[in-house]
Amino acid sequence: MSQPWTIEDSEEIYGVKRWGAGYFSIGEHGNIQIAPNHRKPDVNIDMAEVIAEMQAEGIQFPAVIRFHDILRSQVEILNETFRDTIQSAEFEGKYIGVYPIKVNQMREVVEEILDAGEPYNYGLEAGSKPELMAVLAYNENPGALTILNGYKDEDYLTLALLGRHLQRNTIVVVEKFTELEMLVRLAKKYKVEPIIGLRSKMMVRSTGKWSSSSGDRAKFGLSIAEIVNAIDYLKEHEMLHCAKLLHFHIGSQLSDIRKIKEAVTEGARLYAKLHQMGVPLEYLDIGGGLGIDYDGSSTTTDSSRNYSTEEYVADVVYGVKQICDLEKVPHPNLVSESGRAITAHHSLVVTNIVGEVSLTATKFDFSEEEGEHVLVSNMRELVTSQDIHPQERYNDAAAYKQSAYEAFKLGILTIVEMAKIDTMYWQILGEIHSSLDDDTRQIQELEELEDILASQYLANFSIFQSAADTWAIGQLLPIIPLKRLNERPDVRCSIADITCDSDGKINKYIESNQISENILMHKLNKSEEYPIGMFLTGAYQDVMGDMHNLFGRLTEVHIFSHDDEPGAFYIEEIVPGHSAEKVLETMQYNTDYMAKMIKKSIDREIRKGKIPPREGVRWTDFYERCLAGTTYLRNGK
Ligand SMILES: *Cc1c(COP(=O)(O)O)cnc(C)c1O
Repeated sequence: MSQPWTIEDSEEIYGVKRWGAGYFSIGEHGNIQIAPNHRKPDVNIDMAEVIAEMQAEGIQFPAVIRFHDILRSQVEILNETFRDTIQSAEFEGKYIGVYPIKVNQMREVVEEILDAGEPYNYGLEAGSKPELMAVLAYNENPGALTILNGYKDEDYLTLALLGRHLQRNTIVVVEKFTELEMLVRLAKKYKVEPIIGLRSKMMVRSTGKWSSSSGDRAKFGLSIAEIVNAIDYLKEHEMLHCAKLLHFHIGSQLSDIRKIKEAVTEGARLYAKLHQMGVPLEYLDIGGGLGIDYDGSSTTTDSSRNYSTEEYVADVVYGVKQICDLEKVPHPNLVSESGRAITAHHSLVVTNIVGEVSLTATKFDFSEEEGEHVLVSNMRELVTSQDIHPQERYNDAAAYKQSAYEAFKLGILTIVEMAKIDTMYWQILGEIHSSLDDDTRQIQELEELEDILASQYLANFSIFQSAADTWAIGQLLPIIPLKRLNERPDVRCSIADITCDSDGKINKYIESNQISENILMHKLNKSEEYPIGMFLTGAYQDVMGDMHNLFGRLTEVHIFSHDDEPGAFYIEEIVPGHSAEKVLETMQYNTDYMAKMIKKSIDREIRKGKIPPREGVRWTDFYERCLAGTTYLRNGK
């Protein structure tokens, strides 16, 4: 018989350590545990305790859990890696990074990053007017940078000049030549000296999903010819001394380190040549793109990366140094705009499985009946003939089912007979699947039985709200059970959400370091909830969700680790999710009016004597309570 199941077996399947970056692992009781502080690897939080405390607080699933210590750790790791590498390389510039808030604009996230980044003068990046307004208000550190990207209008540029008035290092990165003309005009009008960055349209083409961010047809940036023109223009207006930064960004989630090296070489060479032309550049901004190993494979697949943070930093620092030394120009200060790498790990979506859709679950009494249709008898014979070759058995079953379907459409087969045939068909497929050996498993049709027979586990969440990229661009996010990882998972299933959209399904999972169309989970117990976690949702997913089916934002739980607390953590804040009322109002519904209309209809029925008055009041209250309540399924009901 098979060996007892261990947490090592679960680790092998789910690869928690491979994508967990030191923050997530499987604890000895079979629960996921979190070590959120990279400086204190011994502080471990048990996920089961977090869930218990959330339930004690009355928090409904689905919910977002944020680990603020993970955010802080990621900020510290990036900054310290740059510091250490700069020191050992004897690089003469410093590292002064910024966090691009578009990756996760939640105020609490931005505040935590700024606070953790303060010792390193870590700043912020904005790419739109509202982001700029947030960044101006929150980045008060006079030693930090504020980098402004994206297309700009007069208001955007004027706000940037306001930043200069407030003694901030707001750097306007010019994406388009016309922005430069506008900026020069406004700077003269308001008599403020801007700091100007030039974004280069890079020649290197990145690979992966965001490859269109670079190359000749990129949406953003100036071509070499435009950069040369921009310099002439600034000279003409006696503002060349304002041009202090050269910027590039070749795409997000760069999976191949060789593309990064190529981009750094091109960018550093451009910096050196411009410097030699008399442009007083002080900063080289290498943009974002530092990847996350979502699938834990350490490869160049779209959801992975073939390098470590140390390697990335070393390639940037040594790459820039080498070219600057060859070209005899001073080393610039290095700026990077890592968003994904800072935020991806810090949050996850927790929800529970609320049901199962299984093709083999329906039982039906298919004992022989007198005068039954021959198709039913044929199928029954196939149930008992277990010694014929699986391929032959499968072919026969499929043929009988097809004939039965035709006969049913013609009215020859009764509905009960059709139900029997259907039930037997799935039972036979299940038996064939479990009887496969190493040889028969090679037959493609039989191998596919695994997918055909997989159950669907229904999870109380919306993919469009919580994992937009899995649907939009096939992003892979690890999904695993949060408990029972010391038990054998023996149900092959896929996860479907509760939206009314057949696209609301996850069809990529990590399994044994491969990408699989379904995943092994545990058999559901009636008496116990089965919580699952979707991990690495902190970058983009958290803030991209849409209103499909009007589910709206999730409740959030913010967790801090603390050695002195029981379980080494405490819930610092609970941010309630959107109520039904709130999401309806964003779609222009007037919920007061809706409640009034329902009350009016109920009153009418009361007057007609169809509903007793007391009960009518209860129905009115119930409708109003539902408006104020959650859009997701209420736990267990
Ligand atoms: C989106 C973006 C970033 C962030 O990229 P990540 O891959 O998340 O680090 C940085 N800079 C610019 C200009 C961007 O558009």
